[in-house]
Amino acid sequence: MRYSQIFVPTLREAPGDAAIASHQLMFRTGMIRRLANGLFAYLPVGLRSLRKVERIAREEMDAIGSQEIKPTVMAPGELWKESGRWETMGEGLLRVKNRLGGDFVVSPTAEEVFTALIRDELSSYRQLPLSLYQINTKYRDEIRPRYGVMRGREFIMKDAYSWHCDEASLDKTYQDMGKAYRRIFKRCGLSVFSVRADSGTMGGSGSEEFMVESVIGDNTLLLCKDCGYAANVEKAGCKPDYQVPASLNAAKALADSVPPPERIDTPAVKTIEELCAFLKVDARSFIKTLIYRAVNVELDLSTAPGMVKSEKRRAPSGETHRGGAPESYAEAFFAVCVRGDLDVNEVKLASILKASEVALAADTDVERFTGAPVGFAGPLGLTTIPVIADESVTAMHDGICGALAKDQHYAHVAYGRDFSPWLVADVRVVKSGDCCPLCGGELYEKKGNELGHIFKLGYKYTASMGVSYLDENGKNRVPIMGSYGIGIDRTLASIIEEHHDERGIIWPMTVAPYHVIIIPIKYEGSVKIAADQIASTLENTGIEVLLDDRNERPGVKFNDADLLGIPCRVVIGDKNLALDNPQVEVKHRNENDSRLVPLNMVAHELTAFVYGKITQLNL
Ligand code: ATP
Ligand code: MG
Repeated sequence: MRYSQIFVPTLREAPGDAAIASHQLMFRTGMIRRLANGLFAYLPVGLRSLRKVERIAREEMDAIGSQEIKPTVMAPGELWKESGRWETMGEGLLRVKNRLGGDFVVSPTAEEVFTALIRDELSSYRQLPLSLYQINTKYRDEIRPRYGVMRGREFIMKDAYSWHCDEASLDKTYQDMGKAYRRIFKRCGLSVFSVRADSGTMGGSGSEEFMVESVIGDNTLLLCKDCGYAANVEKAGCKPDYQVPASLNAAKALADSVPPPERIDTPAVKTIEELCAFLKVDARSFIKTLIYRAVNVELDLSTAPGMVKSEKRRAPSGETHRGGAPESYAEAFFAVCVRGDLDVNEVKLASILKASEVALAADTDVERFTGAPVGFAGPLGLTTIPVIADESVTAMHDGICGALAKDQHYAHVAYGRDFSPWLVADVRVVKSGDCCPLCGGELYEKKGNELGHIFKLGYKYTASMGVSYLDENGKNRVPIMGSYGIGIDRTLASIIEEHHDERGIIWPMTVAPYHVIIIPIKYEGSVKIAADQIASTLENTGIEVLLDDRNERPGVKFNDADLLGIPCRVVIGDKNLALDNPQVEVKHRNENDSRLVPLNMVAHELTAFVYGKITQLNL
């Protein structure tokens, strides 16, 4: 390809809003241009690398027997109503109407579409397991798109889905996907590590995220210094730093010598810090109680106190609903207790409640349920809403908590003796310095950016969407399902994050838009003949060549070559060609100095080098 022929509008400066290297460099190299917030067009050079990432993903999916299909990007709203996500997905889901008034969504993911496609074809266990994938456009109406294609509104995802007769078969495909993902990222030249996206305390893993370490990463990860444990903070567990009582009676016994709860005046004292200072005690002595509002709660609340106020409904609604999705509560409130020095993990809470959303309740709701201003909630005598206690609270037998009255707290509060929560669960945030749930070692934190996610979905979609097959005994059964996604654009941007310097990108060979750039100092005479000849020899062996035929100063050409990050550079000048043994200059992008290589050797040497690098990454 001749440089003068391609549309590659390089820039000296990146736009002001480009805060990270990949965003800046994708702009400056003319890989992408912005159409609107979160919407980017790929120009020729950018598209070449994007397609290479796609190709790697495709090859690895094919290698594990997943089969590519191409559904549409627009999906019937009906399918989303069947699964329940039409109602639970919130603002991120872009809903559109066609001219006949029919509901559609612009796919943010495709569990529904894939499940609907197999639902009508699946009849026998002999068709399972089945794994299908697509590499296709997704749209998410992200609140805050940022960092260029790292978090766009429209992006390309490789998403795969699988269906199985049993968990063992699902586990096999899940493991294969994990291996394929590791290979995809390795082939892209990325250092990726996987973290559990489930608590990991139960043994085995049903969800794994593939992360690159990144200061701009949205994910906080907890890693063990001693064993391989690594988990997203959203789900990370830890070994308790307290003695968990074996039973409610054991908890009561702990409080034997503790005086009964005593109401104390705490005038104008609201925060835990103020209380600590006022009462001269440690934050660990407080039973912090927060009021949460949860939306679309699928956990059975029939035994929970105070549920009369919440509207109970069947989800999803609509005539097309075929399956047995559980009942859900449109809205419900909870008091969540945790030891005063710890924080509530809202992701864990949402997952326990099977809720689509949880957030701290509005002040008016707190006052409505606790009968006191914000800051005086406590589990004692709280009957208006269910109380959920973190496991840390079960070890508290002489605690302090809000007394459901302004400026008042209770002292000498004992779990099990003075209050029994409706539910005890792990809802705490784990942090640096806590103990690994597997080996007890010290946990430390890292920031990460998620590139891929593999997930054992269970029966959520197959049951709600009424998928079934006949097993060996002719019995009707629901298949179990998995889903597996990689963000192609985010992967591409992450490659640039990991491989660049102050001059530009340093592409790994497998994803470089071109393997070799040839720079004739002046594209004329014997230099032109040599340049054309090297280019065509290389192209004949499958090497992708960019020949800089522009009438530009050498300095400009060198800068553009460095900026674009083409792995090998060949410079051809008069003087070296005129030698008895004509020579050209070769420099690899990640090296500082060039070498002279005989003209008649250069194509051979570069071909070997390019294929060698590709093989090395592909191994
Ligand atoms: P995030 O937490 O970053 O929003 P997610 O967990 O919602 O991502 P998944 O639903 O697991 O994402 O989608 C699979 C993959 O799609 C992600 O691992 C990521 O690589 C990619 N992805 C998700 N959202 C975006 C986005 N807005 N822009 C680019 N890629 C994205
Ligand atoms: Mg994810």
